[in-house]
Amino acid sequence: MTPVTTFKGKHVALFGLGGSGLSTARALMAGGAHVHAWDDGEAGRLKAVAQGVPLEDLSIADWSTFAALVLTPGVPLTHPTPHWTVPLARVAGVEIIGDIELFCRERAAHTGGSPFIAITGTNGKSTTTALIAHILRQSGRDVQLGGNIGVPILDLEPPSDERIHVIECSSFQIDLTPSLKPTIGVLINLTPDHIDRHGTMENYAAVKERLVAGAEVALVGVDDPYTHAIGARLSANAAPEQRVAPVSGARALDWGFYVDNGEVYYREQGHPPEEAELLGALAGARALRGAHNAQNAAFAAAVAWECGLEDDEIAQGLLSYPGLPHRMEEVGRIERALFVNDSKATNADAAEKALASFTDIYWIAGGKAKEGGIEPLRPYFPRIRKAYLIGAASDDFARTLDGALPYERCETLDVAIQRAAFDALTDGADEPVVLLSPACASYDQFPNFEVRGDTFRKLVQGLHAVIAARRGGHS
Ligand code: ADP
Repeated sequence: MTPVTTFKGKHVALFGLGGSGLSTARALMAGGAHVHAWDDGEAGRLKAVAQGVPLEDLSIADWSTFAALVLTPGVPLTHPTPHWTVPLARVAGVEIIGDIELFCRERAAHTGGSPFIAITGTNGKSTTTALIAHILRQSGRDVQLGGNIGVPILDLEPPSDERIHVIECSSFQIDLTPSLKPTIGVLINLTPDHIDRHGTMENYAAVKERLVAGAEVALVGVDDPYTHAIGARLSANAAPEQRVAPVSGARALDWGFYVDNGEVYYREQGHPPEEAELLGALAGARALRGAHNAQNAAFAAAVAWECGLEDDEIAQGLLSYPGLPHRMEEVGRIERALFVNDSKATNADAAEKALASFTDIYWIAGGKAKEGGIEPLRPYFPRIRKAYLIGAASDDFARTLDGALPYERCETLDVAIQRAAFDALTDGADEPVVLLSPACASYDQFPNFEVRGDTFRKLVQGLHAVIAARRGGHS
């Protein structure tokens, strides 16, 4: 844990007791602050009480005593309407911050600017963050991994000059972190998303830009118009001590970090292309399939290079990256058939990445459909041998698939996986792929996409016996 000492002896209002809220409360209390915690839901309040976190109904509290309001990133700061705590804090002149801001202040107070890598973007944040942490760890560095991915930042070990914090930041977290000045800032890509919480695309992009604007080294994507414009603006206005480098997962650049033909390069400004430094190759990196992962890999290699790693350490790290659960995760192989869990693909956009990464696919899809269904995936239908439909979206998806490719209504995941596995194993393809990439939310049949993916993984593990029985053999 990182005790928050910068509010020692002060009174701090804390709203939001799910997710990172309790971690923040513990860290503030460990550092000597007086916490006044609240949540609209009773479940969060009960958990706080069980952990000895003092509660106070902030709607009737005396706000003049508070030094800050620490808000959970889950509640709206600005859009669609500010949470009720926000105007109360503003009227009382109380600053509104989040847990990453508390970390930044600890870092400033107790270290000479400890290594702090902050990662954001619309897509690929978790993959890039985990990949950076993996490469750095493989090279023997002391790495703390957290933020929007898994462990709340204040649950991590405290910052120190020898320790590298690798932190995924959502736009909501950046909004609550006014003094975000990472050693290395990473902005992967920007596409319209979360507009309901930021009002407009311009506001959303401006929030994301702040993460790299304050960085000593800013690594900024060039593969979409929004990040491209941000990178150009930062380069034009960079302070003398700031470095701004472009990164592409899609094409060779005049200078910067890029993937070209499955190889990751760094080319220095003003140097000819033949002098580009080869940092690694993606051909054998099983957990980094697909063009989207080329982008993630380019950024991770860039960060590792900026941290001073050798080229072969970067190359090894890319190859040995095990991947994250539920994102094109290889969960098993039975004979020639590969089983891939892509449960995180809760919309067509995400499923497209997986469908583009494999051929001879036995595709398990369905759940609670998103607007637009699977119509945008039509160009990938030739890669699919058959589809196995589950959940509420079955009728809708069947209408799109009618006449385009064979499909079966399976209702549930256990049935779908058995049918798909049996077909895949009787197929002549070299490497048939049974792919769960649902293009749907999970809520009709599962509590969340993680449980759906874990169920898929368990079913694959149990499949050996089922397949043997159906073939009349022994497991
Ligand atoms: P995030 O943390 O930003 O949600 P993840 O790394 O968890 O991103 O990846 C989630 C999904 O987003 C992946 O399963 C894949 O479909 C898609 N994705 C991953 N990286 C990228 C990228 N660089 N560009 C576009 N889509 C991506």
